[in-house]
Amino acid sequence: MPVYEYRCTVCGRKTSLFLRSFREVAEPSCCGAGMVRCLSSFAYHKSEATRLEEAGDPDRPGADYYKDPRNIGRWTEKKFSEMGMEMPAEIKEKIAASREGELPAEIKDL
Ligand SMILES: [Zn+2]
Repeated sequence: MPVYEYRCTVCGRKTSLFLRSFREVAEPSCCGAGMVRCLSSFAYHKSEATRLEEAGDPDRPGADYYKDPRNIGRWTEKKFSEMGMEMPAEIKEKIAASREGELPAEIKDL
């Protein structure tokens, strides 16, 4: 169950969505406009890290951060912690597997 964070392009409000699968597409809206996806829960996408770097958000780590597999899932852990939620076992397992170099099948080919 991937968790995606979306940001309103108008007011900047952020919201997290829980999707049932990696293939499910969500199109949340705010202020009568679409929202852009910020970071996937298993972010190991260079393009995503690059995009964040270009956006110049000081709170986000640079691309090198995501090249270290030990950092995979840190954001997800932080978000669940911030929300006061226990991370589902399925996500814990996928993060643990990703840190061992076993990326989920859904993102292996990206
Ligand atoms: Zn908005």
